[in-house]
Amino acid sequence: MLNKKTIITLTILLIFPLILTACSNDTVEVKTAEDNAFLMDTLVQMRAHGENADAAVEESMKRIEEIENLMSKTIETSDIYQLNNNPNQIIEVSKQSLEVLKKAKNYAEITEGDFDPTIGALVELWGIGTKNASVPPENKIKAALANTGYQYLNLDDNYAKITKAGVKLDLGGIAKGYAAEEVKKIVEKNGVEHAFVNLGGNVLVIGDKVDGSSWKIGIQDPRAGRGDVMAIIDAVDLTIVTSGNYERYFEENGKLYHHIIDPKTGYPAENNLLSVSIISHNSFDADALSTAVYVMGLEKGMEFIENIDDVGVMFITKELDVYLSSGLEEIVNINDPDFNLIEGEYSVN
Ligand code: ADP
Ligand code: MG
Repeated sequence: MLNKKTIITLTILLIFPLILTACSNDTVEVKTAEDNAFLMDTLVQMRAHGENADAAVEESMKRIEEIENLMSKTIETSDIYQLNNNPNQIIEVSKQSLEVLKKAKNYAEITEGDFDPTIGALVELWGIGTKNASVPPENKIKAALANTGYQYLNLDDNYAKITKAGVKLDLGGIAKGYAAEEVKKIVEKNGVEHAFVNLGGNVLVIGDKVDGSSWKIGIQDPRAGRGDVMAIIDAVDLTIVTSGNYERYFEENGKLYHHIIDPKTGYPAENNLLSVSIISHNSFDADALSTAVYVMGLEKGMEFIENIDDVGVMFITKELDVYLSSGLEEIVNINDPDFNLIEGEYSVN
């Protein structure tokens, strides 16, 4: 049996090496919490470091699930399902859904409809990402185009309304960005200084890493079927949101059809791009922008982003040329020699 003295000696012996290790690493043991879940139709990964890391992660995952329950197209009790299935009726919706709908409509206005939250009829028709994906007949595309248009979405202080039967909302291009910003608020409320969340390509990092270095965010090789990283971005308090043609698509007669639809043609946006990554400080805006800029294409998209303060963009073309908006060279490191950075100021007329 151990007597009191032995216990004390042992305890000191046990504690001492711990203190030594702690001192030699120059860091104090920091609590870490992480979780993964399939939410909002994607894999969500989160990690937080700090005294309240557990609470921050738990609350965040709950919040993301709440957002999915409010904004999903398929969950029958969601605000979006109610709106889509009750056209011409005033629907009282949650503050959260209204906030996302307002931002979505605002982006539809400033992008002149390149981003359009009423893309639902076209998304359903194409069925990309489902087993039923195929190129629809022309007449069906025309019909779905007639049921697309943000002018059919009315918003007020506590209600929303779809003003034409057949028009369907789809917040797939913006809701994950909103969720990421909600995670940021929860993390900050919990006093957690280091965290990241990844909602299927919507990445947000809060603070720096525990050791004071920057987070390294990998940009996925956008060639279909490849999973490796082609560039690394040094990130502190930053969001990187990527829209690409390589995650949800199908092929028919040798042609690739992806999930970002041009609301003006009714077809997947046709351009020379594999992916667009928006790099900025607000994930909510960045999500809408990544989808919008993908539809705009390189020239129009670059000009659009260069005119917004505090927002950067990285384009990757089918030739594997990489175009960066001004100022990004310092944080983007391309590590795959197949990709060529087109240097110098990219001039648009
Ligand atoms: P992901 O959801 O794969 O991360 P995006 O943020 O680019 O990629 O969003 C694509 C999703 O947005 C589509 O799956 C669809 O739900 C919706 N969407 C498609 N085209 C548009 C568009 N032109 N404007 C707004 N939303 C769109
Ligand atoms: Mg988006």
